[in-house]
Amino acid sequence: MQPISDKEIRGSFVNCSKGDARRANLPKGLSDLPWDDLDFLGWRDPGAPERGYIVAERNGGVVGVTLRLAQDVRRSITKSTICSICLTAHSGTGVALFTAPRVGAAGRQGNTVGTYICADLACSLYVRGKKRADLETTFETLTVEERVVRAVVNLSGFLDKVFEGTPSAAT
Ligand SMILES: [Zn+2]
Repeated sequence: MQPISDKEIRGSFVNCSKGDARRANLPKGLSDLPWDDLDFLGWRDPGAPERGYIVAERNGGVVGVTLRLAQDVRRSITKSTICSICLTAHSGTGVALFTAPRVGAAGRQGNTVGTYICADLACSLYVRGKKRADLETTFETLTVEERVVRAVVNLSGFLDKVFEGTPSAAT
């Protein structure tokens, strides 16, 4: 994705208040991030680890969504879990269930969309083999390019659900 600034990131959030967007802790060293290797910018809030953020290009613009770690999720320690965006298999806490408030009135009423995502939200790097999960059990026959496309499609589907029912969903 194209590098974006602090200001652009804060202005991109669609499912939180302006105050929340202002208070969000952004990743350090934005200008040094490996933007060429990122399909989207994802990070956990260093000051509030139960919060996460995804900022992605969408319809020619940039869209940011805030995520929260879902509580009370029982998980088997031995069982691996697969990220629904990049399909990387992780063990233990490598994948987390995040929920995103929906855009608009639905979100303000507490309506959320939940999905399993790499706990560090670094899907782009796993897809490219720049970061490795602790499990290396899945055998992928797809090329990196194909996996990138698949992750982008999956992320777009997730964002569609976050936007569902709002006028901007059609754009
Ligand atoms: Zn992932």
